Amino acid sequence: MSRVRRVLIEGVRIFDGESVAGHGSVEFAGGVITRVVTDPAPRPPVSCEVIDGTGLTLLPGLIDAHTHVFGAESNLELALAFGVTTELDMFMGPPEATRSLCELAGRRDDLADLRSSGLLASAPGGHPGVTMPLLPTVAGPDRADAFVAARQAEGAHFIKIMVDDGANHGMSLPALDRATVTALADAARRRGLLTVAHVSAVWSARLALDSGVDTLTHLPLEAALDEAFARRAAAGGRAVIPTLAMLELSAPRPSPALCAGRSLAHDPRIADHLPEQARTAIAEGHEGLCVERPSPGHRFRHALSSVARLHRAGVPVLAGTDSNHRPDRACPVVHGAALHAELALLVEAGLTPAQALAAATSAPAAHFGLADRGVIAPGRRADLVLVAGDPTEDITATRSIEAIWRSGVRFDREAHRRRVTSGAATERAAPRTKRRTP
Ligand SMILES: [Zn+2]
Repeated sequence: MSRVRRVLIEGVRIFDGESVAGHGSVEFAGGVITRVVTDPAPRPPVSCEVIDGTGLTLLPGLIDAHTHVFGAESNLELALAFGVTTELDMFMGPPEATRSLCELAGRRDDLADLRSSGLLASAPGGHPGVTMPLLPTVAGPDRADAFVAARQAEGAHFIKIMVDDGANHGMSLPALDRATVTALADAARRRGLLTVAHVSAVWSARLALDSGVDTLTHLPLEAALDEAFARRAAAGGRAVIPTLAMLELSAPRPSPALCAGRSLAHDPRIADHLPEQARTAIAEGHEGLCVERPSPGHRFRHALSSVARLHRAGVPVLAGTDSNHRPDRACPVVHGAALHAELALLVEAGLTPAQALAAATSAPAAHFGLADRGVIAPGRRADLVLVAGDPTEDITATRSIEAIWRSGVRFDREAHRRRVTSGAATERAAPRTKRRTP
């Protein structure tokens, strides 16, 4: 990896975060996009690295709006290796370690950048605090402001709120009530923080909507959210992070062949860049983490229907995976890789490929106030992914990664592949010779 003074990608299809802006040239220097020219092509400045973008598409760096990093730097490296330049972590501790990992990710160009909720809000004796005795809980509305203030002091970037009675884990536990969730949402708003509610049933989605939470994550599997819900969510300016990549493992699909996540293990564009342990976890698959014992009445298609309804009503849909993989505990939802399954699942739910790409770039940047990224425009961070083909026609083209830059620094994907894959990888054929890519 080396910093270059100036890079010009010419003749490339540009997806600017919302739509295809046409073919043209994108120049960046000092970590920032300096020029976007669609026609005519600019003369390359002196001492500029020129990349031929013919047949390629340039995307803003991808944002995964729901992950769990578990303090593992390796997860952030894995994310970046699949074009995810920013991860939004939805629960991590202890607070000092979370803060220092966020700071490290801010400095290191070979890791995905990181924002985190830090510790989440849940009811005393509720999920997941019942198994984590040191986790602070919220005993009632009068405790909400102190809870939010403490997370803010610890450096939390947003507030995660559990609205879950443990039913999906085969338990019956106390959950935060409407008055408490409302008080948490109000306290966060006063303090300038967004709220994200974990909802995994119709009752919890309604409670979160009624309580004024900004963002809902996960979706019910026992039934689809109805049109009235979608209209109210849109009118209230809410956003949703469905985490379909995790949900399709929580309510198994009629045939494993339909499972977008599992198919990643057989797609060489993904599998060749995965550590063996992660590849095996994806190939074998198993139930998702939010639902340990799938109920017979749970259907993944309910989640797809809810996404379609929310999207049609105008609710911003943000791509998030609920990646839970870590070096010491394999999980089939793997940082970086899973986002490519999520994109395909959003298209299956009814978004166009361009809308799915917006859900992983401009939409999460706008919702979470990441004003410096998510869009290809002069002045934005040079977080960029160059892929072969046209993902606005075939969403799986996002997997054909030719190059990744974070803050203008190119990620050495081949060195990463060699590091993470087993000895068998060295016996594989050399990667395809590229045309004029550096
Ligand atoms: Zn999660």
